[in-house]
Amino acid sequence: MLSVMTNVQGIDAVSGNHVQVEMHGAIQQVTDIITQPEDRHLFLAPGFIDLQVNGFGGVDYNDPATTAQQLEESIKAQLACGVTRIFPTVITGSQDRLRQCLKNMTKARGEFPLGEAMEGFHVEGPHISPEDGPRGAHPLEHVRPPNTAEFDDLQAAADGLVKLVTISAEYAESPKFTEHCVRQGVVVSIGHTKATADEIRACVDAGATMSTHMGNGAHQQMLRHPNYLWDQLAEDRLIASFIVDGIHVGENFLKCAIRAKGVERSVLVTDAVMPAGCPAGPYRIGGIDVILHPEGKVTLASSNRLAGAALKMDDAVGNIQAMIGLSLSDAVTMASRNAARAGRIRARQRGLQPGERGDVVKFSQDPRTRKITVLETYLSGQRVFAA
Ligand SMILES: [Zn+2]
Repeated sequence: MLSVMTNVQGIDAVSGNHVQVEMHGAIQQVTDIITQPEDRHLFLAPGFIDLQVNGFGGVDYNDPATTAQQLEESIKAQLACGVTRIFPTVITGSQDRLRQCLKNMTKARGEFPLGEAMEGFHVEGPHISPEDGPRGAHPLEHVRPPNTAEFDDLQAAADGLVKLVTISAEYAESPKFTEHCVRQGVVVSIGHTKATADEIRACVDAGATMSTHMGNGAHQQMLRHPNYLWDQLAEDRLIASFIVDGIHVGENFLKCAIRAKGVERSVLVTDAVMPAGCPAGPYRIGGIDVILHPEGKVTLASSNRLAGAALKMDDAVGNIQAMIGLSLSDAVTMASRNAARAGRIRARQRGLQPGERGDVVKFSQDPRTRKITVLETYLSGQRVFAA
């Protein structure tokens, strides 16, 4: 991208200081502005990061026929939500389809300037639990035990850009698979699992560092204790991601889970699927009929099972404040620095500091409803969205 000097002013949402951020590709300088801001609800934050997004704005990342132009449109739609780095996520399917999707997006990534916003890929499945409940909406016929040769094949198709995988810890092969991925710098996240405490511990000992959408991809009913939710919440080596749309997890679970993990081990993801950002109605995702309901719920047409979210990250940041009373500083940190740490995204882990990439979002927030309105988004120092 063409690189020129830019600067932006506002209140650092994390520190509360009124600052000017100068960028030239990376952040060059952050200086305190002595005068009080004219608008006390105008904030700056590191650009949001979404480690789990299956599609957005009518574009499906799980369709190998998705074009570079469609990908660009979907990225623009997310930049308008303050998201600057995404991990397009492919879910359980045949090896052929997974390979094609990754190959297609990897090629497209180099074909337009905003392609760099696709920081890496998240492969969620196919090595997840076959059981109803933990499996969620993933197709049973393609669920299979961990296989390192399959992973290597996908990693080759993605030119090394698979940065995160979600697997169940319940398989005998899970620890070895985890070691194999972690050795290559790939983050392993436990999710869609029915694993026991011992199985979870073995996977974490092998290097797993995340829990995928904590509280979802689980049985409707389970033993009160022990169970795999407590086991993961209690494991301090795991950073948990949360879908905060008010549908996937309720307020009290969210509050308890985030207290258990601490804000520092909590990350916001959208888990958005293709209809996110589109009008309510029927959609078809990868041959499966789904319905986007007016209240934002996405379900399979054949049952009432959740099939992903229609959440926007700016809403997630406002929602978690409104739902459990977190500060703006904590909410923003969960959507930016913590996500960068969890996904091991370089030059994004320190917040608005010199040397960090020039990914910045400027927004206003309604102090009463916590609703965020994104005003400007910068990617690598360039303004890529203005309201
Ligand atoms: Zn999932």
